[in-house]
Amino acid sequence: MLDNPLLFAAPGDLIVSLIAGMFGLIFGSFLNVVIYRIPKMMQREIDNFIATETEKELPHQDVFNLMVPRSACPHCGHQITAIENVPVLSYLVLRGKCRKCKAPISARYPAIELLTGLLSVLMIWKLGSGVAGLSSLFFLYSLIAMTFIDFDTQQLPDDLTLPLLWAGLLLNLNATFVPLHDAVIGAAAGYMVLWLIYWLFKLVTGKEGMGYGDFKLLAALGAWMGWAMLPAIILLSSVVGAVVGICLIVFARHGRNVPIPFGPYLAGAGLIAILYGSQISGFIQTLMP
Ligand SMILES: [Zn+2]
Repeated sequence: MLDNPLLFAAPGDLIVSLIAGMFGLIFGSFLNVVIYRIPKMMQREIDNFIATETEKELPHQDVFNLMVPRSACPHCGHQITAIENVPVLSYLVLRGKCRKCKAPISARYPAIELLTGLLSVLMIWKLGSGVAGLSSLFFLYSLIAMTFIDFDTQQLPDDLTLPLLWAGLLLNLNATFVPLHDAVIGAAAGYMVLWLIYWLFKLVTGKEGMGYGDFKLLAALGAWMGWAMLPAIILLSSVVGAVVGICLIVFARHGRNVPIPFGPYLAGAGLIAILYGSQISGFIQTLMP
């Protein structure tokens, strides 16, 4: 793993990190669109496929992708103008309400923008502005999109997990994070570990604890960080899971029996691992007898 030994590496890094933060705020606004639309796009494809198979009229014939149609208020259809789409600020100025019909806008939109901005700063700060740092932004944005989509729909779309997996393998052709050998084994082992746990859990309890999307996500994390980081990622994901689970039960009055998807924990663990992986594996080694 890359490790930056200096907290204040160079004065230029602060400026580059802040630029990354501005970019993150704007990209967070796009991630809101991705999180909202990708599950809808998948559902529309399924609906149209079923209609084709049963020779019925296609239920969705209008264009619907990440660009078209323009974002609009779900209550009154008012199209969001550029000035109403400034990350975080617009939400504050509009006081969380649609400018036209005053219907409340979810606080999750500015929260995701802020989260993306802050984590972009941290990524570039820790990993630098070279290939590792810039590609870690792609890693970050993919994980944020997956986290919220999985939270909303209990699904991790292949359109997000597989490009992340391929990107990890391609980046490590030049050992950007780990040697290619470690990346390939990491991808295969990441998939197989969860696949095995899934089938063992299913044989013992008859229930399905997670989904194939989770296997692909851990495969992607293995492709980025190598097989040696997998134990730390799995350990971290259970820690993140416990913390998030307790917070949800306490603060959001989330029912104890409502299933919480596993993807967000893996994503959180992956993020911690890419930032602090070397320290964490060092710590785990000190615990070993
Ligand atoms: Zn409205």
